[in-house]
Amino acid sequence: MKIALVTGGSRGIGKAICLKLSSMWYHVLVNYKSNHTEAKNTIQQIEEQGGSAELLQFDVANLQEIESVLGNWMENNKDAYIEVLINNAGIRKDTMLMWMKNEEWEDVIHTNLDSFFYITRRLLQDMLVNKYGRIVNVVSLSGLKGLAGQVNYSAAKAAVIGATKALAQEVGKKKVTVNAVAPGFIKTDMTKELPEKELKSMIPVNRFGEAEEVADLVGFLASDKAGYITGEVVSINGGLYT
Ligand code: NAP
Repeated sequence: MKIALVTGGSRGIGKAICLKLSSMWYHVLVNYKSNHTEAKNTIQQIEEQGGSAELLQFDVANLQEIESVLGNWMENNKDAYIEVLINNAGIRKDTMLMWMKNEEWEDVIHTNLDSFFYITRRLLQDMLVNKYGRIVNVVSLSGLKGLAGQVNYSAAKAAVIGATKALAQEVGKKKVTVNAVAPGFIKTDMTKELPEKELKSMIPVNRFGEAEEVADLVGFLASDKAGYITGEVVSINGGLYT
């Protein structure tokens, strides 16, 4: 059984990625933080389309929880290994830097950046031993361009982009690829309060993207067909220039 872990799989882009990987015959470990109803809904939809999945509830910013929940899963499934990791869970807490509270900086850095380090390090050894792995990090246009009001989020996403490029060079020889996907505006809970009507005029294709469109791209990068793509950041933003 091929196994994939998707962080933040209960809603939005992560949920669409879970469904995509399931359609590629992956058993999907659906991580989430607190929204149990939505997480169960992801599992139900995977099962309805003939796939299999299980929930792994932990806070991606909390090393102890990662060690106990993900570490336990690995301990109890010694014959299995997670060959696909999608670091998708993320939050934003927007405000101008001069008014930014310590917690707004720290929460965003811990959830978007530290999570990459803790979880990738935990799974990497198995990928290297098995000489196959796919890591896809969901970053953002903000990490490429920088966005006013998002200094914390832009810094975290830019750091993950740097980490993607560096790690790709460390593990390429072992057939482990590491890439990033940088969405622009995608219709999810994260963007539901944004004025799409006003913002879409800046976007050449004149609309927000769908989570499923991001999932199709992630699915390709996570497939064995993408073995010669690594260290890349692929934008998916309807033509919004970076
Ligand atoms: P979303 O709809 O707000 O969903 C966020 C998901 O992440 C939920 O499943 C949530 O779990 C999970 N999550 C949040 N904090 C977590 C934590 N500490 N531990 C574990 N899970 C956690 O967000 P989205 O729009 O799908 O965004 C997904 C990724 O795409 C993020 O990294 C985001 O930065 C990036 N992105 C999004 C857009 C966009 O326009 N939407 C654009 C660029 C980049 P619960 O359900 O349990 O809360």
